[in-house]
Amino acid sequence: MKFDKPKQHTIVFKVSDNIKEKMIKHYEDMKCEKTPPYAIFQVKDFDCVTTLYESGKVMFQGIGADIEASFWTEQERVLNNRLIDTESNKKDKKEEKKTFINVSSIGSDEVGTGDYFGPLVVTASYVSKENIAYMKELKVRDSKQLTDETIIKIAPELIKNIPHTTIILSNKEYNDYHSTDINMNKIKAILHNKCLLSMVEKEPNYEKIVVDQFENPKSYYMHLNNVPKKVTNITFMTKAEDQCMSVAASSIISRYIFLREMKKLSEKYNITLPLGASSKVDEVGASLVKKYGQDILKDIAKLSFKNTEKIYEMTK
Ligand code: MN
Repeated sequence: MKFDKPKQHTIVFKVSDNIKEKMIKHYEDMKCEKTPPYAIFQVKDFDCVTTLYESGKVMFQGIGADIEASFWTEQERVLNNRLIDTESNKKDKKEEKKTFINVSSIGSDEVGTGDYFGPLVVTASYVSKENIAYMKELKVRDSKQLTDETIIKIAPELIKNIPHTTIILSNKEYNDYHSTDINMNKIKAILHNKCLLSMVEKEPNYEKIVVDQFENPKSYYMHLNNVPKKVTNITFMTKAEDQCMSVAASSIISRYIFLREMKKLSEKYNITLPLGASSKVDEVGASLVKKYGQDILKDIAKLSFKNTEKIYEMTK
């Protein structure tokens, strides 16, 4: 197995007062005895050194800097509605992004998380350097930018020629898993990890592993706490489909399989199941419940969505 050579990163930004307080509490039991000048504390983790200064500036250094910092930028976003751009802190980030297009990579992406009806589909693909020209020829791009017709044309080619693993989580399975402890992102993390594991074992000659980011890296790994085998040398990227061929392939394959499953479900119940989670979805859901009873939703929809209550309301 080949691993990326770890990159040393430094990320610095100023935290808001409430986050500063939270950090002091969070790192309370981990801080070093010695504190650098003007610092409140310093914590040395095995892959990241975190230093908080009196001024409110925080510095993350080391190969785990991304993951550690992302936990706090996420807090800023959720609690203070504040977006912190840690990218601009990393001079090598742009360079790094460019290099993803032309390397052998394993990449994963999912479809169905925004759709009330239909399964969750996750795919991980391996695109070798040699296959990149072929991918460009096929005009492989982000599946969201492609029409369903194009996807139906390209995807079978990819399925034939690009090594991949796809997991389809049926609605019944999704509804059984989903609980107060297991949210959508946790389910996604577990499925991505499963697909990636299988590809890493089948195709060990990759240079990079890329996941189209749906969660900050620290939370992603926290979701996998109880999973015995996990892929850890992942680069998380937003809009990864544009920058990484294997993620683009995975997004197209997932989309294709999702559409196929939706067609099957639609045929089974003799009604066109709409995509998304709009009021159109509620209408179709209500007419199905009237015809087959409430239990029908367990087999064709993601009950955790707000649509479920609306549909129950409509069919009272
Ligand atoms: Mn995605």
